[in-house]
Amino acid sequence: MEDPIINNLNNIQRRIKEACARSKRPPEDVRLLLATKTVPAERIKIALQSGCTLIGENKVQEVREKFASLKDIPHQNHFIGHLQSNKIKELLRYDISCIHSLDRLDIAGKLNQRLLQESKTMEVLIQVNTSGEESKFGVFPEDAVKLAQQLSELKALRVRGLMTIGLFSADQEKVRQCFRLLQFVRQEIMNQHITGVEMKELSMGMSGDLETAIEEGATIVRIGTDIFGKRIYPDSYYWSENKV
Ligand SMILES: *Cc1c(COP(=O)(O)O)cnc(C)c1O
Repeated sequence: MEDPIINNLNNIQRRIKEACARSKRPPEDVRLLLATKTVPAERIKIALQSGCTLIGENKVQEVREKFASLKDIPHQNHFIGHLQSNKIKELLRYDISCIHSLDRLDIAGKLNQRLLQESKTMEVLIQVNTSGEESKFGVFPEDAVKLAQQLSELKALRVRGLMTIGLFSADQEKVRQCFRLLQFVRQEIMNQHITGVEMKELSMGMSGDLETAIEEGATIVRIGTDIFGKRIYPDSYYWSENKV
């Protein structure tokens, strides 16, 4: 019997394509990132072998655990979780090509320093808290321009765009406001013409809201549940300082 992951992937690809068609965007403008937290390497392999090329973990520990099992299958690794300063050095061992979740200058400074020591550079996205929920990570929208300017001074970092987690709500119009706000912040940053800062990526949209995100301009959607199934840990374990 075919693994359900294959069928789920086909469904997601179809949803992406249909949302692109509705919003008159070429489907190649939107990349699918597999959000693989809690998913064992064997399951991730199935998705990579059926043509996916981009995965993202939230915790350095999980990157570490799965790295060896996945490294022989060609793919790209992004990091989409909250970055802790004591994990930066380790994270750089694992061939991460983009960090989606930069939201603090002190962490960025440490990351920059470490990259310089290793003669490396890193693509980063600024995570913006567009839902106003206190518990969520991300810089507040009104502080994003300033952070972009500060990051542009850190020579090992390549700012490539923005990331957000939409409001967790069944009301897609409320979720849409989050994505519109991210697009607005993007435009504000672009208006500053900051040297070295590019705003081509908008990482937004998950299983429940990928269509809305694509309609509002997402270039990367991050999908977990609708491909790999429900997780046992609540997302608050990954998205805020509160531990379960
Ligand atoms: C888990 C996670 C996702 C995927 O969410 P699903 O609802 O399972 O598709 C996307 N982005 C981040 C940052 C995540 O932690």
